[in-house]
Amino acid sequence: MNTAHDAPLVSLREVRKVYNAGLPSEAEVLHGIDLHIARGEFAALIGPSGSGKSTLLNILGLLERSTAGRYVLAGQDVQDLDDDGLTRMRRDTLGFVFQFHHLLPAYTALENVTLPAMARDGWVSPARRERARALLDAVGLTQAMDRQPAELSGGMQQRVAVARALMLEPALVLADEPTGNLDTASSDEVFALMRRMHEQVGTSFLVVTHDPRLAARCDRRIEMLDGRVAHDDGL
Ligand code: ADP
Ligand code: MG
Repeated sequence: MNTAHDAPLVSLREVRKVYNAGLPSEAEVLHGIDLHIARGEFAALIGPSGSGKSTLLNILGLLERSTAGRYVLAGQDVQDLDDDGLTRMRRDTLGFVFQFHHLLPAYTALENVTLPAMARDGWVSPARRERARALLDAVGLTQAMDRQPAELSGGMQQRVAVARALMLEPALVLADEPTGNLDTASSDEVFALMRRMHEQVGTSFLVVTHDPRLAARCDRRIEMLDGRVAHDDGL
């Protein structure tokens, strides 16, 4: 039986993206991407600057729509969703970590981690607050929960961002160069943390990275070149 749960978490078929359609600057930047990601995978998305990694991640993250092709996420055909449906799906299924942490400066680490619950439910239940504390414990920030982002190192800020991404138990975390702004030691620490959370929670990860050392430590490498998947050792 092929239920939605057995189906790949992510299934892209012939996905294309055209920017500036109809203008002189019109450009197709994704040329028919086929990609499948199973539940529980930990994959790297690599490739030179301009090859389309962020565009692909934004489409996977429901932040942008593809121009053509089919995208099925957790059994849901994304093309069938209106903007509210996309927002709900994004909130319930996905977590994000960006190169710059995007933590709110006036809030503590703990408050930043509970923000997704606040945004979704309008309040933070005691159980949710407990989960946020447990996540911050798990990322080694027990002592820093009540500090604001400016009082944390870059690596600590990114660990808060990882905890925040996991707050609503997403099926998939999309990370766009999450360690791109960190020194080697902090990079390794944040990366090791993502691997550990992957093991503990079973969430799938797709991590864009320029760092071959980190890519080598992922279970699968998907390599983009000029808007195409040039190599995928998960196939
Ligand atoms: P990467 O993340 O691999 O560096 P991007 O996905 O950011 O690559 O970019 C892929 C191509 O798409 C680049 O040529 C870039 O200039 C172009 N591009 C990205 N975003 C836009 C946009 N909003 N409008 C027009 N072109 C874009
Ligand atoms: Mg990019």
